[in-house]
Amino acid sequence: MFNNGNHLTPEELVKLDRQNVWHHLMQHKIFETQEPTIMVEGKGCLVKDIRGREYLDAVSGGVWCVNVGYGQDSIAEAVCEQLKKLPYYAMSAGNIPAILLSQKINALLPNLQRVFFSNSGSEANEKAFKMSRQYFRLKYPQKDKYKILFRQRDYHGTTVAALSATGQPERKLGYEPLVPGFIGDLPPAYCYRCSFGKTYPHCNIECARVLEDIIQSEREDTVAALILEPITAGGGVIVPADEYLSIIQEICRKYEVLLILDEVVNGFGRTGKWFGHQHWDVDPDMVTMAKGMASSYMPLSATVVKEYVFEQFLGDPSDKLGYFRDISTYGGCAAACTAGLESTRIIEEQNLCQNSAEMGKYLLDGLKELESFPVVGQVRGKGLFAGIELVEDKKTKVPVSEQFLGKVLAEAAAQGVLLGKTNRSNPGYNNVIAMAPALIVTKDEIDRIVAAIKKALEKVQL
Ligand code: PMP
Repeated sequence: MFNNGNHLTPEELVKLDRQNVWHHLMQHKIFETQEPTIMVEGKGCLVKDIRGREYLDAVSGGVWCVNVGYGQDSIAEAVCEQLKKLPYYAMSAGNIPAILLSQKINALLPNLQRVFFSNSGSEANEKAFKMSRQYFRLKYPQKDKYKILFRQRDYHGTTVAALSATGQPERKLGYEPLVPGFIGDLPPAYCYRCSFGKTYPHCNIECARVLEDIIQSEREDTVAALILEPITAGGGVIVPADEYLSIIQEICRKYEVLLILDEVVNGFGRTGKWFGHQHWDVDPDMVTMAKGMASSYMPLSATVVKEYVFEQFLGDPSDKLGYFRDISTYGGCAAACTAGLESTRIIEEQNLCQNSAEMGKYLLDGLKELESFPVVGQVRGKGLFAGIELVEDKKTKVPVSEQFLGKVLAEAAAQGVLLGKTNRSNPGYNNVIAMAPALIVTKDEIDRIVAAIKKALEKVQL
């Protein structure tokens, strides 16, 4: 029998955790006085910790990734079957689940054609950067078209190049020097705090049009790609104006800059469509995905590209450097692709994109009612992806302190609802409550989420 830890008491588990685990994104000092919340099991949108406390998980596994919810036995069964048959073989050869999943992804993204598998969102973005740089080096050997543009407030991952492409300076502190050639001058598409002091729709969508000035000042011959999240996730749940992405696309085409859309959070039903960008008129050259791709039952990510990008790597076989010389050992792992196939089947068969759109509207309508609270600056979102920006003063929009947000989240957790938080702006205030429940969430569960936030806002004083 494998060691599943069932013989250990909660006290023993906490002790072992304190002795051995280095938790992600945490100042560990707090665990000297506070116990980490260690989860044991889940069903639907509910999770239970080692102390037997049950929570409604409004953030799908903490980082908006368990899209189909917990306890989907068919994923576990499919993965188990595949593991017994063939757990793994390198993707320089291939395996059947990888073939079937790439076919499925291409059907969901009909304008794209080739799927390169890896293991995490960061890695999928790294591949996109490497592909972009090499694409132009192969296409225009005489040019040096290598720069990657990114947008302020967007997050693209934790590895050093993905971090270099991230528009949240607070995440970079201490890790410099980062990778050269990453340019983050594009402002966020953030109407609530417009970088140009304008008001939508009387703004000419300056936040998109300024891309042209940035490309010209960098010199178009040096710019390879722009990476964006369709809806900025960790940077504050920021939904762009409807015109935004098509203007961006037009400028990218004009200067032959590849448009990479990071769908790591937006993808797989989160925003009410299969992919976030499908809400708008935009046709990216590359799309990256992870999290909801296998609903995080297994680690899985991909970089999906247009056929013309792929074809650029099919040059003269005698050119030893002319193909995409990249590998991720676990990328395309047969068991992970199986989880992706089964999770995608569940989203499709249970109409979960539609549920995300409908329940997302219900959630947003409920949250809008909280706008009467003095601290609620703005409620925003799309599908089952929502944020509440908290401010000390609605006129000045001064963000609430991190401590205030922390107290609101703790109060909601005490009521059994787990919420998330995201950053607003430099220097990285966490003043946005984030919600991204599993796509199977019900009206009753949404009522519970909204009620918990309401009660927390009534209780916690500035
Ligand atoms: N892109 C976005 C938009 C993300 O939110 C994240 C993770 N939160 C990543 C990339 C990186 O994904 P991973 O943590 O799997 O490397």
